[in-house]
Amino acid sequence: MRDTAKHQGLRNQLISVLQQKGINDKRVLQAMQSVPRHLFLESGFEDFAYQDKAFPIGAGQTISQPYTVAFQSQLLQVKPDDKILEIGTGSGYQTAVLCKMGAKVFTIERQIELYKKTSKLLAALRYNPRVVSFGDGYKGLPTDAPFDSIIVTAGAPYIPQALMAQLKIGGRLVIPVGEDTQIMTLLVRSSETHFEQQEFGDFRFVPMLEDKNR
Ligand code: SAH
Repeated sequence: MRDTAKHQGLRNQLISVLQQKGINDKRVLQAMQSVPRHLFLESGFEDFAYQDKAFPIGAGQTISQPYTVAFQSQLLQVKPDDKILEIGTGSGYQTAVLCKMGAKVFTIERQIELYKKTSKLLAALRYNPRVVSFGDGYKGLPTDAPFDSIIVTAGAPYIPQALMAQLKIGGRLVIPVGEDTQIMTLLVRSSETHFEQQEFGDFRFVPMLEDKNR
C-alpha cells in the first residue's frame, strides 16, 4: 500500500476534526498529520482509516480511535527523547505516532500474532521503537525502567503497581481504568512515594488481560 495525496488530504481533514474536538497539542497534531494510519489497518478498511473511529485489527483487538490516540498522546506531554513505555502495541499506530514525536518508545504486546505482524510492519515503515516486546504489560519492562512516561492502551481493571514503580519522579502514567467502560486516568509521580491522580472522562478499550498468549 502507498501513501498518496488523497490520503494526505483525508488526514488533513481528520486533523481539523481532532482540533474541533479539543486537541490542541501541536506536536501531537503534526505527528498524526504525517503518520499514514491506513497502513496500520487491514486492507478492507483502508477507506475508513481517516474517519474518527476504532477498527478491528485481528486477534479480537482494535486500533484505537484517532481521538483517543490524540487524547492520550496529549496527556503524556511528550518531549523529544522522552523514554516512553507503551502497553498494548496492537496495530502499532500509537507506537508510530510517539516515534514520530521523537520519543524513544518501548512497547509490549501480549498477542503473539499481533506482536509478530506489527514488529515487522513498524520496521518496514521505518518507525524505530527501541524495543517491541512480546510479554505481559502488567509487569512493565523492569530492565529498561525508569520511564519518563507510560501509556496503557487497553482497559485496566486497576492500576498495576509495577507500572507505578517504573516511572521516573515527575513521570506520567496515562491509563484507562475500569471494567466495561474506563475512566482516562493520569498519575504524575511527584516523589518516590507520592502520585497525583487526575481523571478525564469515559472511554472504551479492549480489556488489559493478564499474562501473554502464545
Ligand atoms: N495501541 C494500539 C491499541 C491496540 S488495542 C493501537 O494503536 O493499535 C490494545 C492492545 O493491548 C491489544 O493488542 C491487546 O492484545 C493488548 N493487550 C491487552 N492486555 C495486554 C497486556 N497485559 N500486555 C500487553 N498487551 C496487552
